[in-house]
Amino acid sequence: MNVLEIRDLGVDYLSGTGAVHAVAGVSLDLRRGEILGLAGESGSGKSTLANAVARLLRPPAAITSGSVVYHRRDGTEVDVLALRKNELRAFRWKELAVVFQSAMNSLNPVSTVGAQIEDVLRIHEPEMSRAERAERVVELLQRVGISADRRRSYPHELSGGMRQRAAIAIALALNPEIIIMDEPTTALDVVVQRDILGEIRALREEYGFAVVFITHDLSLLMEISDRIAIMYAGRVVETGTAEGLHRAARHPYTGGLLRSFPRLRGPREELLGIPGTPPDLRSPPPGCAFHPRCGLAMDECSATMPALVPRKGGEVACLLNDGTGVS
Ligand code: SF4
Repeated sequence: MNVLEIRDLGVDYLSGTGAVHAVAGVSLDLRRGEILGLAGESGSGKSTLANAVARLLRPPAAITSGSVVYHRRDGTEVDVLALRKNELRAFRWKELAVVFQSAMNSLNPVSTVGAQIEDVLRIHEPEMSRAERAERVVELLQRVGISADRRRSYPHELSGGMRQRAAIAIALALNPEIIIMDEPTTALDVVVQRDILGEIRALREEYGFAVVFITHDLSLLMEISDRIAIMYAGRVVETGTAEGLHRAARHPYTGGLLRSFPRLRGPREELLGIPGTPPDLRSPPPGCAFHPRCGLAMDECSATMPALVPRKGGEVACLLNDGTGVS
């Protein structure tokens, strides 16, 4: 059962020298209660895609095509791209919340973390009494591993990990069905990062929300995700279960990403990286955008853009798609 359906979504950055196609024809489903990892190098379009879904894009970025449909539990549908400003405010907190990489930038520096959670509750749950709000603040902070007495702390008085936990508590305030996490642990050290990842999984089990988890670190996504979508040059090039991609990635780019990060489990392997750099999206290469960097490229790869087609357990966009695996 899908909670979100993205179809043929396109986002351009409009500049004086022409349009940059940051997201091009992306179709993706988010299932109720799953953790969907979104991976790719910087500039692959993953954050732009998430911001488009949350309607957080600012000019010069503009949605140029496609649809985003949200399915409520009661069976009704919401056309996200058609929401008006006042509807959008409620949608963003009650149905979908976003946690950004730098909590320092998303938290209000002149307000305590407790007051910031209370503000969300006061605006969106006006029938709640003051005592109920105070109780909920403590409950939320404790749920993300912050002791009740820290509700009076300002963001600068908290460690990086605690700030990120506070941002997650704010996102959880209204029990949304979807939480988008854009590199939420990238700035943290590995131990804190793993603690928070464990907590996100535990919270998902408890509350049943779906997560879109964005990072360039595919090995980290393998740890936390149920399914993973790989983006390159604004397009989804492979989807699959975390286990399926770990066992046999089918797109050469996925294979390259897997070899670029140390695996958190299993034997040590040499890190190889991916040769070259991501394409300039003002003039992407013809055919498969990955062909200048692909060690398996054939003549036709520079002429034909591969479509994303179903494969056992997922989808892949590669002309070599014979199902033998490339990792
Ligand atoms: Fe490589 Fe060709 Fe597949 Fe693109 S279509 S990933 S260039 S083999």
